[in-house]
Amino acid sequence: MINIALIGCTGSIGRQTLEVVQSYPDLFRVTALVCGSDAESLTALKKQFSPRIALCASEGEIAYEEIFAGCDVAFIAAGGFAGLRYTMSAIEAGKRVLLANKESLVCGGEIVMQAAKRRGVEIVPVDSEHSAIFQALGFDRHAKFEKLILTASGGPFLNFSAKELARVTPAMTLVHPVWKMGEKVTVDSATLLNKGYEVIEAKWLFGADFDKIEAVVHPEGIVHSVVTFADGASLAQLGFPDMRLPIQLALTYPERLPCMPALDFSKIGALHFLPLPREKFPCFGLALKAGRAGGTAPTVLNGAAEIAVRAFLKGHITFPQIAETIEEVLCKIPQRAAESIPALEEADGMARRAAQALIYGK
Ligand code: MG
Repeated sequence: MINIALIGCTGSIGRQTLEVVQSYPDLFRVTALVCGSDAESLTALKKQFSPRIALCASEGEIAYEEIFAGCDVAFIAAGGFAGLRYTMSAIEAGKRVLLANKESLVCGGEIVMQAAKRRGVEIVPVDSEHSAIFQALGFDRHAKFEKLILTASGGPFLNFSAKELARVTPAMTLVHPVWKMGEKVTVDSATLLNKGYEVIEAKWLFGADFDKIEAVVHPEGIVHSVVTFADGASLAQLGFPDMRLPIQLALTYPERLPCMPALDFSKIGALHFLPLPREKFPCFGLALKAGRAGGTAPTVLNGAAEIAVRAFLKGHITFPQIAETIEEVLCKIPQRAAESIPALEEADGMARRAAQALIYGK
């Protein structure tokens, strides 16, 4: 029996995780359910899964140690910068972390990986690209490789002109051609900020230099990422674009249990791989620039992005202004060393306030 503390249980990944839990009731048990603000859904889930503890973060103080007591694995599916606190608490509690929260590594990569090493805790990737790389490496995170190649669907606006991009609406953005995801990640996929985040995640998860990580557009969403080795061989993981597979595998690896139907290769047809259109989607380059700068820069980038995306979804700024806001905030806020979580939280707050001021005036 695997006892799971699930953080972010009412979001898209959280709900798909609970579907996986339900498909193997004799194997998985939920010991804790935590959500951000959807208390109504939490009440329903509490009835259904009878966890030892159920908490809504917006309704009071969170006792982090309490959440992770009695679990075998901490599944961090919360979205945004807030996920970092949970990841750190799970590591401090000595629990294996199944990580679907991108910001934990984007913002806190150095601190998180150091803490995990110190506590002897494993960080297992859930994001489909990183799960694919982990699989292609034979679950050996110390295996030698030449390059990690992250695939990107390219989002709904891959072939849009700059003029067309200036006119896209939130509704158009929230329809992703391949994956079913939460709102923030769906917008980040359309701006390609998400792929920039995933490059930073890959750097921390697999100890790779930025020069060894590439991203390519693969519109079909069948090849979930590729690893290239010194002899020129490339290994990839292929499958239907459905998060339940990487979620289930993170829970059971190295064992594989029935989850999805396999691909029928006689029916797939052509698969395409194209260069990432970086000029048209500046968020990707901004994320890489912040990632290379290190310190608090990725946290500043992320804080600005969270405010800008929310403003875009409310119709307050245009699609291209998401990148413009992020770039201006990155220029404005001095970058510091990321020596502690409070230092990151301070940078996050500064970035949010700067983004608010840019969008709404002081
Ligand atoms: Mg992904």
